[in-house]
Amino acid sequence: MSGADSAPDPNRPDPPKLDPSRWGGKTVAPGEGQAVQITVSESYSGARVRLPVFIWRGRRDGPTVFVTAAVHGDEINGTGAIRYILTHHPFEVAAGTLVLVPVVNLLGFEQHARYLPDRRDLNRCFPGDADGPLAKRMAHAFFEQVVRRCDFGLDLHTAAVRRTNFPNVRADMKNERLAALARAFGAELIVSSRGPEGSLRRSATKAGVPTLILEAGEVWKVQPGVVEYAVRGVANCLQHLGMVDGTPTDPPFRVETDSTKWVRAKFGGFLRFHVAPGQIVSAGEPLATNAKLTGEEQNILRAPRDGIILGMTTLPSVAPGDPVCHLAFPKRGVLRKIERAVEQLDQPSLHERIRDDFERGMVVHDPEDNERP
Ligand SMILES: [Zn+2]
Repeated sequence: MSGADSAPDPNRPDPPKLDPSRWGGKTVAPGEGQAVQITVSESYSGARVRLPVFIWRGRRDGPTVFVTAAVHGDEINGTGAIRYILTHHPFEVAAGTLVLVPVVNLLGFEQHARYLPDRRDLNRCFPGDADGPLAKRMAHAFFEQVVRRCDFGLDLHTAAVRRTNFPNVRADMKNERLAALARAFGAELIVSSRGPEGSLRRSATKAGVPTLILEAGEVWKVQPGVVEYAVRGVANCLQHLGMVDGTPTDPPFRVETDSTKWVRAKFGGFLRFHVAPGQIVSAGEPLATNAKLTGEEQNILRAPRDGIILGMTTLPSVAPGDPVCHLAFPKRGVLRKIERAVEQLDQPSLHERIRDDFERGMVVHDPEDNERP
């Protein structure tokens, strides 16, 4: 660690001074990587629920950082990213300890489901309760055995079912150490928020373990662009913390905002999309045309202000009130600068490729291209 990041935070409670070599009852020596298991619950049959965790230690001392995925059991893009790190070694951990947790909500994951079998959202149960219901006990077991032993956390998510998200980092930017980590991740879009009550990132940050999330892509998929984006972000953060050699790569632009809004369907009907995730839109620009199944146009949904498409529905059939486009609103005047920065990019940049990926994933129509019967 270097610079301000290594300064002790007087507001931070003392973490349990556990030996960073002991995980799940096993010993992991400096310079070693090892798969261990962390017991978090028991199944209906009485079998132990053990999370597969990989501990990767550098030879030198340094921070301990967790990377978690599938806290929502169907959000497996992050699982794919962690698997890529384990199988391809895109970087070497030189200092500190990297704790890789491919699936946190193992019981949800077994059913390809967001929630636990009792239909609770694990990501509203942190820091948990040892005497509470199943979800809170699991949250507590994970929080005590993994989260509290770390100095920082990166939690990988996707959009909920039937939606997609252009990669964006969400973090409490009022927390200075977390803001520096979030900027180091290298995302174009940072949404500043503490996160919902009971979420892993909010509870971890509150407990003195600054934690951000990446929101990227869709459920039930491992998308190559999202994996590349997540792996690069993890590497950037570890470089920022001095655990991995090299310097973090900067994004072509960076927008930090706490202003976002879902544009919702006014009528039940079928949508033709005019934009894709990551696209920059001007106030009044058509986002989607809502038509009856027989083709008659009902209305055009438009951008309320200049913004960037953060996320979208992937399902063209909507009922009134269904979310259609999630927009992020940067400060005035910033969008033109962003457009110029994007125009100057080389075609093979990750930003361009990931935007192309998202655009190919859906049918985007020119609003002028009318479809009246
Ligand atoms: Zn999630």
